[in-house]
Amino acid sequence: MTKEILAYSYLRLSAADGREEESHSIANQREFLRQWARRSGFALQAEFVDDGHTGTDFERPAFQALMEALRKGPVRCFVTVDLSRLGRNYLEVGRLQEEVFPALGIRYIAVNDDYDSARQVCGGLDPAVFKNLINDLYAKDASQKALRAKRTLQRQGKYLGGSPPYGYRLDAADRYRLLPDGETAPVVRRIYEDCLAGQSCAAIARALTGEGVPSPSARKAGRPGGRWSSSTVRRILTLPTYRGDLTQHLREMVSYKVHKSRLVCPEDWIVVENTHPALVSREDFARAGQLLGQRQYTGGRRKAHPLTGLVFCADCGSPLYARQMGGAVYLVCHRYASRPSAHLCTAHYLREDALLGALAERLQVLARQALGGQPPGAASAGRGEEESREETQWQDRLAQMEEIRFSAYRDKVAGILTPEELEKLLVTLRREQAQARAALEGARERRQRREESGQGQLEKLLSPERLNRALLSRLVRRITVGEGRQVWVEFAFRSPVEVEEPGKAEKTGQNMV
Ligand SMILES: [Zn+2]
Repeated sequence: MTKEILAYSYLRLSAADGREEESHSIANQREFLRQWARRSGFALQAEFVDDGHTGTDFERPAFQALMEALRKGPVRCFVTVDLSRLGRNYLEVGRLQEEVFPALGIRYIAVNDDYDSARQVCGGLDPAVFKNLINDLYAKDASQKALRAKRTLQRQGKYLGGSPPYGYRLDAADRYRLLPDGETAPVVRRIYEDCLAGQSCAAIARALTGEGVPSPSARKAGRPGGRWSSSTVRRILTLPTYRGDLTQHLREMVSYKVHKSRLVCPEDWIVVENTHPALVSREDFARAGQLLGQRQYTGGRRKAHPLTGLVFCADCGSPLYARQMGGAVYLVCHRYASRPSAHLCTAHYLREDALLGALAERLQVLARQALGGQPPGAASAGRGEEESREETQWQDRLAQMEEIRFSAYRDKVAGILTPEELEKLLVTLRREQAQARAALEGARERRQRREESGQGQLEKLLSPERLNRALLSRLVRRITVGEGRQVWVEFAFRSPVEVEEPGKAEKTGQNMV
């Protein structure tokens, strides 16, 4: 016969138990636990009883005594009929289960809920139910005072929503601040572009759904794809948050007892200007708003992947198709993908955004050449080249200094430099490196400012995000992809050129769709 496990039993009857009283009476609990202990090989050493204390109050005297006894040992285990005997304050119960008991080495068993901390699983307890209970409690506790504090923070431009609006993520350094999300921000920008290009909300929604772009609700739930509704698109096109003005208080609770919220009319939204990076310009936002107000015609045309029909496999000649995999869209040889196991061809995988990035880069260079260094709008290309030349110079200088540093160590080992000489040299090098780094940083900043200030129009015009189907079909006749990711581009306006392997662009391509 196996050795019995020593345990305490904890019984509780609360005034709030009301009609459950009969089944939960102390006598019933006692009898239930005795039978269970006999069946399961436990030897109950003592019984702790709280009679008439409510479950939300952990100041219960017998519970305190139980904890004290468990802390002292040697009995390290206690048992209740069910989890609610431990308490009705689910937050506190959770804390006990997850933090206190494990930390003290206490084993806790709730018989009817099939919970045993030794197994560290909640067999009978649905985590979702548990979460809902916590939410219930939270809502009940929400007082007017908390609500007022919330509104104050909102008026200060602090983002208080649980999950950030589509297109944004929370700043890791400041959880009240929004930053563009690398994956979804381009989708928001594209929605605005499509709207400004004359597409209806319904058409945009259809296109996004068709392309398998994760919808806001699917993304929240961690599912791929999902249906975009035209009202979702419309909401994105009208929410001032996207022009950089944090907009909150879009919904409000009917009351904290009723789990229903109602929409707040736009006049009562809390809008704070310039709180975070915008995804669209104020002009584009205003124009989208106007278009939405005036929209009559709803064209049902679908926006295909920009590269579909333009990209072909170098080996079998069949087109490459866009496929959503993980968070990214890949182009893959259709002949291969139709029956991968048949090995009719090889995959020729290529990230769509990488290819678009490489294409945009190439087009920018060509356009700059074609325009003789005079991009539209501003005579800035010369300055831009100067800045990037400056950056390259400082980068070269830094590399040189690194080289010197290494050879200095070599020289020291070889006995050419004394330790004192090496130290002196390193001090000088460090100072020079710091200066070079600062200069490089300055050059970078100037370039970024220039690009952001609208002088980088060409880059913007021919950015991967702007390379839509209409533009591409005018510029590109045919793109051929080799298995080694070599890309040949036959431009519509000149003879074929080879675009460098876009592996490099792939690494920096996280910000693209
Ligand atoms: Zn192929």
